[in-house]
Amino acid sequence: MDNRITIIPKPISVETGNKIINIRTKSVSICINTDSKADLYKTAATAFGVAGIKTSDKGISVFIELQPQDKKQEINEGYNLTLSDEEIRIKAESLNGIFYGCISAAQLISRADNELPELNITDQPIHSWRGFLLDTSRSFYSTAFIKKMLDACALHKLNIFHWHLTDDQGWRFEVPGYPRLTEIGSKRQDYTMPASEDGFYDEEKLIRRWYTDEEIKEIIRYAQERCIQIIPEVEFPGHSSALLAAYPEYGCTGGPYQVENRWGIFPDVLCLGNDNIFTIYEAALKKITELFPSDYIHIGGDECPHERWEICPKCQARMKTEGLDSAAQLQAWGTTKIASMVAKLGKVPIGWDEVLDNNKHNKLPDNVIVQSWRGTEGGIKAASLNHKVIMSPTQRFYLNLKNKDSFEEPGRLGVTTTKKTYTFSPAGKELKLENPEQRKLILGGECTLWTEKLPHSRNAEYLLFPRFCAAAETLWLPEEKKDFEDFKQRLEYHKKLLHQLDYRYYEGELE
Ligand SMILES: [Zn+2]
Repeated sequence: MDNRITIIPKPISVETGNKIINIRTKSVSICINTDSKADLYKTAATAFGVAGIKTSDKGISVFIELQPQDKKQEINEGYNLTLSDEEIRIKAESLNGIFYGCISAAQLISRADNELPELNITDQPIHSWRGFLLDTSRSFYSTAFIKKMLDACALHKLNIFHWHLTDDQGWRFEVPGYPRLTEIGSKRQDYTMPASEDGFYDEEKLIRRWYTDEEIKEIIRYAQERCIQIIPEVEFPGHSSALLAAYPEYGCTGGPYQVENRWGIFPDVLCLGNDNIFTIYEAALKKITELFPSDYIHIGGDECPHERWEICPKCQARMKTEGLDSAAQLQAWGTTKIASMVAKLGKVPIGWDEVLDNNKHNKLPDNVIVQSWRGTEGGIKAASLNHKVIMSPTQRFYLNLKNKDSFEEPGRLGVTTTKKTYTFSPAGKELKLENPEQRKLILGGECTLWTEKLPHSRNAEYLLFPRFCAAAETLWLPEEKKDFEDFKQRLEYHKKLLHQLDYRYYEGELE
């Protein structure tokens, strides 16, 4: 590819002409030649703004054309972009397409040198599910940082923000009728770790550690303006220490419990012999449904030990009435209950790949989307059972792993290099699937940032970039079009843009 075209993720097709266009200004003048739409103008202006490009009468003319959409079920996120005679034309069939066309244009004109060839770009993502997960339980982040991450998603054409809202270390949204979830469940009982020298975890300062409804609505609006859908996640039935600290009667032993200050997997989980847990989940999921317009709710399901259930009389009684052979099967039973609750609310449930385990008596409901994190095996199994799949294998897409194998580097649970992230393709050749139909069930993937030991968002950024850019390209581009050497060259320019936009960035070895 022409080395003056450094867009990330790389467009599918770029044709260049001989004529050189000098870009003399880093602002744009957006022209919309239909009788529409404040909407369209705002979408375009927002996209340019994400890359630091302002709108001005004296800017480069950008003509936007929203074309009628073909009668397809899925929205077409593709776009066409031409650059000639110091003007840019962007056509697309959807607001997403317009947005991404503008993002590409913005990346082009933000480059340090301003000479570009005539261009004709035709582009469209390979995957409809291009996501980023942020864990706001292990570390609680400001809404300002969440918005900054939504900007990062937009700049890299990711369309899903998976918001991990509950875990052992904190419950982060309010549920009517259950005030202690936030009053108690959002606050750690021991503030010795992470280090509190800056007072960040200082209880005396009474810092609120959950998101209010108004903050959540504002984040949702911000995401919508950037063509991003937010997927809220409420963990069930493990990773529940925060809930149990607030309402100990929902645990098998009755407690007392505390909001965890340590990391890991804890034996105290929800008591599946207690019917009341479904009442509190109904309230929580109803609240989530009211707040979030998304079609999906993530119900967790990962890393749930079953040891308390083995000896709890209520859980044992439940196993008996449900005809289950083992405590482990209780989880599959609980998952089907929660999944049907989500379906009744008009949403599609998503679960981590453990939702496929121990389900001899309670087959995973067909509508559940499986997110594969323990490698790709869960995803392959889910596809073979005709479930839709989201790929997030730890060794490729967990960006909280170290960038390289060095004691000096932050990160945990191992190493994944930028190249390792880049060379993973969610539905690529390395997946041993039985037939092409199964490959179609793989919607795409999500890179994730689990935030143990990351109380400061600046350090979170350091772990993310540039692997976040690599994940975005791998979610956008067909496998056969990917080229790591070419990506590395483009990254040299893209890095400057990220610096301008004030993202921290790992500068070491990429492979
Ligand atoms: Zn129990």
